[in-house]
Amino acid sequence: MEHPENDSSYRGLQVNSGVASQPCVNPYRRPRRKRPEPTAAEYVEGILKGDVSMLGRAVTLIESLAPQHQALAQEVIEKCLPYSGNSRRIGITGVPGAGKSTSIDVFGLHVLRQGGKLAVLAIDPSSERTSGSILGDKTRMEKLSVQQDAFIRPSPSAGSLGGVARKTRETIVLCEAAGYDNIFVETVGVGQSETAVHSMVDFFLLIQLAGTGDELQGIKRGIMEMADGIVINKADGDNVDRANLAAAQFRNALHLFPPTPSKWVPEVITYSGYFELNIDKVWDMIDRYFKYVKETGYFERKRQEQAKYWMFETINERLRDNFYAIPEIQALLEQKELRVLNNEQSSFTAAHDVLERYFSLLREK
Ligand code: GDP
Repeated sequence: MEHPENDSSYRGLQVNSGVASQPCVNPYRRPRRKRPEPTAAEYVEGILKGDVSMLGRAVTLIESLAPQHQALAQEVIEKCLPYSGNSRRIGITGVPGAGKSTSIDVFGLHVLRQGGKLAVLAIDPSSERTSGSILGDKTRMEKLSVQQDAFIRPSPSAGSLGGVARKTRETIVLCEAAGYDNIFVETVGVGQSETAVHSMVDFFLLIQLAGTGDELQGIKRGIMEMADGIVINKADGDNVDRANLAAAQFRNALHLFPPTPSKWVPEVITYSGYFELNIDKVWDMIDRYFKYVKETGYFERKRQEQAKYWMFETINERLRDNFYAIPEIQALLEQKELRVLNNEQSSFTAAHDVLERYFSLLREK
């Protein structure tokens, strides 16, 4: 018979009742006590001392969705704020396969050789769907992950891009307070995440590949405009000529763009992350950039702009979350959506009605 399991006498799938399992294999094991939650002052003290485990726990607190954690996290951030700001914040983007992790590994070692500490953070909006991010993952940065002075943290995974970005921005504050004077924020070169990263870093590095000659076609214009430096990776072996050609094309394209707000002219450099070629050239460019913007005062201006931007972003996000979380609004939105789809009401009056309901709910409170 081809399918014995279809026969009523078949017992192969029957589940036998088993024996009750022991509650614990080791009868002498003492129950594990939960670590008590540190107070805000304890968190801050640990962070300021550079205690990595305290820093890690505080970042977990920032990422937590529990209201009591969020309140504690805000207190910790607020207390760390006076000790923050003393770092070079560098955004690194590139499409998957561009060589971000390979490059960050060697860039990171290069930076650490110059002294100081390095934190690698990430913003990966796709992690929202896959509930876990590979960006900023330790396993991708083998050399860096064993360095004592490197703190590597993958992207927070919960929430909208705005929420994920805010958490990373808050993590920067804690890392700076813990003495990390170089912060890399990695992101994938697809979607909106570059804009979020751009709004929290001083220098934005775009990693590109020498492709088939039409390199510029695949990149969104907006990303090129955000870049302070474009680096063409994998300029090694028989790829060197192609990388140089791509670099020339990028230089030409950059001429067509309006000057950047800092008046810094973005540079294009070829390098190889894997073979560690030209790494010093890339970092020489970044060092020159920081020297330049600190001299012109643009560094401070941009940071202030960013601080303002994040205040408004946080307000917008909280308002949006508050609005959409109200069950009555959710029900009304469903009704209104149908009416708009059936052409029974215009989009604008429907939005107006929902908002009016929201405002009156606020008044009733
Ligand atoms: P990511 O997805 O942007 O993080 O890219 P990875 O760093 O994982 O690199 C993707 C692939 O490109 C890997 O197989 C790397 O070994 C390879 N790769 C990265 N950098 C270089 C390089 O400079 N030269 C060469 N030939 N290969 C590289």
